[in-house]
Amino acid sequence: MKLHEYQAKEVLSGYGIPVPEGRVTYFPDDAWMVAMELGLPVVLKAQVLTGGRGKAGGVKLARTPDEVKEVAKDLFGKKLVTKQTGPEGVIIRKLLVEKAADIGRELYFSITIDRTTSKPTVVASKRGGMSIEEVAEKYPEDIIKIPIDPVTGLLPYQIRRLKYDLELVDQEKEAAKVFNALYKVFVEKDCTLVELNPLVVTKSGHLLAVDAKMDVDDDALFRRKEISKMRDLTESDPSELEAKIAGLNFVRLSGNIGCMVNGAGLAMTTMDVIKLAGGEPANFLDVGGAATPETIAKGFEIITRDPSVKAMFINIFGGIVRCDKVANGIIQALKKVEVNMPVVVRLTGNNKEEGMETLKKSGMRFYVAENLKEAAKMVSELSRETEADINKSKQQKKDKEEK
Ligand code: GDP
Ligand code: MN
Repeated sequence: MKLHEYQAKEVLSGYGIPVPEGRVTYFPDDAWMVAMELGLPVVLKAQVLTGGRGKAGGVKLARTPDEVKEVAKDLFGKKLVTKQTGPEGVIIRKLLVEKAADIGRELYFSITIDRTTSKPTVVASKRGGMSIEEVAEKYPEDIIKIPIDPVTGLLPYQIRRLKYDLELVDQEKEAAKVFNALYKVFVEKDCTLVELNPLVVTKSGHLLAVDAKMDVDDDALFRRKEISKMRDLTESDPSELEAKIAGLNFVRLSGNIGCMVNGAGLAMTTMDVIKLAGGEPANFLDVGGAATPETIAKGFEIITRDPSVKAMFINIFGGIVRCDKVANGIIQALKKVEVNMPVVVRLTGNNKEEGMETLKKSGMRFYVAENLKEAAKMVSELSRETEADINKSKQQKKDKEEK
């Protein structure tokens, strides 16, 4: 889970890491008032869960009261398109208003998990401000990587090395305090990333975390309630959220075939086989090992709500949960949720025959496939046909209107 900059700074500040004075705001007037309280100049920073805001125009300096008003009015509600968002961008709904920092030098300092060494690793550079990818490309020799043994934590010699390489001779004590505190945050909040870019040396010679990014391991949120309650629901897909609450694993994709599968491995295979058959999955939905009428109904609800879905594929392996139970679940769910599209079912595993029999006896219309390959082919063709039919009737309607 990604935290907003203002939330990350709140956490860091609690650990004694110096951050600029400021407050998050939700309205232009509010931003103006906070700016007046802080004193000018201020920076207004878009709080969106993406990097590269500065270059995209989401971080602005304001020196006069009028400038604050103008910038705030301009930024609130604006669509910010950064390198990471794609063309759809994100809407700015919150602005962090901060006292502008007197920047002397900009450093880069982060801690993340290095997958090759399986250790928390400090990545730092005296060239902060620009993206670390850019530093890596232009000045690879200026990037320091220090793996940390989780048993010992960050050691004094590693801190000395960092201070030396980052040229922090005059900030000896402060630097050690910031580095240690940041490592503590990383461990105690179960982070997968904490990043200060830039970590600034002010003109008066003090360290200040001017930007902060924090990513917390989703699998640790159950024991980090103070973090999970910070989740920004306005930036999540509502269907993905609803699925999560219902205990389903749902990811929206760009195609037109809705998929309901039990087990993540089978779900991934299903995506692959659909693609091979020339189809495009509209989602990844794992109803879990125990597919019950309730989870199946919820799955139908979530999938059929998506207007781009033109056909559905139910691919269930009866292991712990037997096929006849799943078939009953599907029938019960279809009584509750209206589904106006072709549904292809493929069941295999325990009590497969009974399951198929149950589907047949229900009197409802399913396309039943014998095996996975055939099912994928069937649903891909059906999705194309339905799509074509819809386009045709739209065109006919349009022609009629024009006449
Ligand atoms: P990002 O682009 O999303 O990483 O946002 P940042 O918070 O890192 O801001 C981008 C750049 O704006 C920084 O690298 C700084 O150069 C500049 N900036 C941000 N805050 C201040 C500030 O308080 N004072 C000054 N002078 N520059 C700032
Ligand atoms: Mn930054």
